[in-house]
Amino acid sequence: MLLTVEGLSKRYKTNIVVDNIEFDIQPNQCVALLGPNGAGKTTTLQMLSGLLKPDSGQITFQGCKNIDRTQIGFLPQYPSFFPWMTAVEFLYFAGKLSKMEKGKLKDKINNVLHFVDLHHAKNKKIGGFSGGMKQRLGLAQALIHEPKLLILDEPVSALDPTGRRDVLRILEELKKKTSILFSTHILHDAEQVCDEIIMMKAGKVKWSGSIKRLKERTRNGYFFLKTEGDIKSWLSKKDYIREANFSNSSTVTFKLTSNQYCNCLLEDCIKQEITIIHFEERSGTLEDAYMEVMR
Ligand code: ADP
Repeated sequence: MLLTVEGLSKRYKTNIVVDNIEFDIQPNQCVALLGPNGAGKTTTLQMLSGLLKPDSGQITFQGCKNIDRTQIGFLPQYPSFFPWMTAVEFLYFAGKLSKMEKGKLKDKINNVLHFVDLHHAKNKKIGGFSGGMKQRLGLAQALIHEPKLLILDEPVSALDPTGRRDVLRILEELKKKTSILFSTHILHDAEQVCDEIIMMKAGKVKWSGSIKRLKERTRNGYFFLKTEGDIKSWLSKKDYIREANFSNSSTVTFKLTSNQYCNCLLEDCIKQEITIIHFEERSGTLEDAYMEVMR
């Protein structure tokens, strides 16, 4: 396990903003911390990155409770830059803070600037950068020391569609070589790059697991069948069909007494020489599953 969080809590005066949360991150996982504004995502990420002290709980990173912070890269929600510095100067400064060797730093800065597509602006002052360029520079800063875990707080929320697409593409590439935990309140962003999600609401983890498992929650047991000819009287006699609802004599939504009869139905259609135009298992959307969990 790369990271284990156990019983982590944080309160401000009487307001419990992170309430006894638990989750794990495995090596090479890309995990989205998903939840509405005020859910406690930033507070959680700040505790993981060492910027905030938890009131209670335990964080274990690479099997150690004494965390080696040089193995973690962090991009805050609102990164601040020195506008008078160039991109190269800023990354040099960030690399020194991460205790990188001076000799290695020059090559590393060049590589990371290429990776985030800022090489053309390497000697330009950050003050003149667009929001998207600043965010990519922030990513470069979080990556420069090749961390094992990259923690990103709402990395795309403040960006326009182009900036958003660029950063999501960079994350797609990055997840091949490093573990990523990023927060977002947008389900679609999580779906685009992550395999796993942790859903938070009001300081608690409401659900965690794979996107695949979340999608499975949306199965509602209904099937849809559209055929070329009339099947109403034939299908109604099948004892494995229930709750059949015909929109017309060749279009029906139904349930099966057990999903194992799915093959049986298709075989019966073939035997009966029925031409199937459309057959599918009906399910809700990922948004439906998200709303159900968050309710
Ligand atoms: P999220 O990132 O999910 O939007 P945050 O972790 O930023 O949520 O905030 C969770 C809750 O903690 C919010 O109600 C917020 O107002 C409160 N909070 C965050 N930081 C502080 C602080 N420094 N002092 C008091 N309350 C805070």
